[in-house]
Amino acid sequence: MGKIVLEKKRKERPFKELVAPLSKLDSCLTCGTCAGGCPVADWEGMDPRKMVRMIQLGLEEEVVRSNWIWQCTNCQRCTWACPMGINFGQIIYNARSSVPREETPGEIQKTANNHRETMNNMRLTVEDAVESFQWMADELKEEIPDFELPIDKQGAEYFCTINSKQPQYFPMDLQSIYKIFYAAKVDWTISSQWWEGTNYAVFTGDTDTWEYTLREQAKRVEELGCRVMAYTE
Ligand code: SF4
Ligand code: SF4
Repeated sequence: MGKIVLEKKRKERPFKELVAPLSKLDSCLTCGTCAGGCPVADWEGMDPRKMVRMIQLGLEEEVVRSNWIWQCTNCQRCTWACPMGINFGQIIYNARSSVPREETPGEIQKTANNHRETMNNMRLTVEDAVESFQWMADELKEEIPDFELPIDKQGAEYFCTINSKQPQYFPMDLQSIYKIFYAAKVDWTISSQWWEGTNYAVFTGDTDTWEYTLREQAKRVEELGCRVMAYTE
């Protein structure tokens, strides 16, 4: 997968400067391979090839103000497909980073802020989350009598992360995850803290929050002595 580099000084640097290190842009062949596989090509008449051309022509402001940068799924198909190695995923990330936080669309930045402030996107308290985890485990015992939920198990091999929508809205999904770990007979745990496996800061271009939440989660993995972080999303 194309690598996205976290740009620490994004707030002090305009998009133009953030794109400058990606000067490979000048090697674009306008072949359209990137646009050919893009799931949002032609949405609002835009596609990655056109956007590369806009940047080449000095229309960075228009790129940053475009709705289209928020339609991109950041799947990076374009980056993979480009014969000239142009990392369009990075360009989109930098463009989003250049948008003032209060101008990001919808609820995505608010969700990223929730993650930073409360350890999960839905602002669930530790108590509520653990209650939901345990409730589903207790119900699962009807089907698997010897099932025990390993919450905050020290030294477990796998650190399980989940989507906060699961304890909040779709708790039965938790049972599916539990069953997989049970059937696999692996040593795992679900932490009472920093279990969120969905990081909206990645999508908003909020490097500070992305880094902060990941570091805090990594700290929790280390505290528990786990070896592998499992993303069940
Ligand atoms: S695939 Fe690469 S070279 Fe071809 S148009 Fe897209 S950015 Fe340019
Ligand atoms: S990363 Fe964005 S621009 Fe590239 S193919 Fe995916 S959706 Fe399209």
